[in-house]
Amino acid sequence: MNEMILKFPAKSENEVFARNAVAAFVLPLNPSLSELSDVKTAVSEAVTNSIVHGYRDSEGWVTLVCRTDGARLEVEVIDEGGGIEDIEQAIEPFFTTRPEEERSGMGFTIMQTFMTDFSVKSERGAGTKVKMSKLFAGAADAG
Ligand code: ATP
Ligand code: MG
Repeated sequence: MNEMILKFPAKSENEVFARNAVAAFVLPLNPSLSELSDVKTAVSEAVTNSIVHGYRDSEGWVTLVCRTDGARLEVEVIDEGGGIEDIEQAIEPFFTTRPEEERSGMGFTIMQTFMTDFSVKSERGAGTKVKMSKLFAGAADAG
């Protein structure tokens, strides 16, 4: 069992830092390159969503909570931004509220595909929490 919490301003330059921090954190679980790439991509999508949708043009903080337990990584990406009106609609492939910015609406689909478990909680005006977990095939169970 291990845990870390990172909190950083919702600036796009912090997305690279955040995804690499999670990758470094998960190294003791002996991830394959493809597992590592999956986690980095999923974290990147969630953090980008908090920055571009959650806070839009306003400022705020993104909190990243990571836990490992045995062969499992759990990641939470939390913002106190604008929230999501209709979660069911938001997680549908190709749904985006910002087509004018060439968003493809695939972020949530990517998170669901690349991680073992995925869930979203959100409240309009209060913020959004994305929770994801992944099981690593090569991890020693006692980790
Ligand atoms: P892409 O990720 O392909 O660039 P996208 O961000 O629009 O496009 P998703 O990541 O699937 O697609 O998100 C779908 C929609 O859910 C977004 O367009 C946005 O309306 C809403 N959304 C996602 N995350 C948040 C968030 N943290 N806060 C507020 N709204 C969000
Ligand atoms: Mg997105």
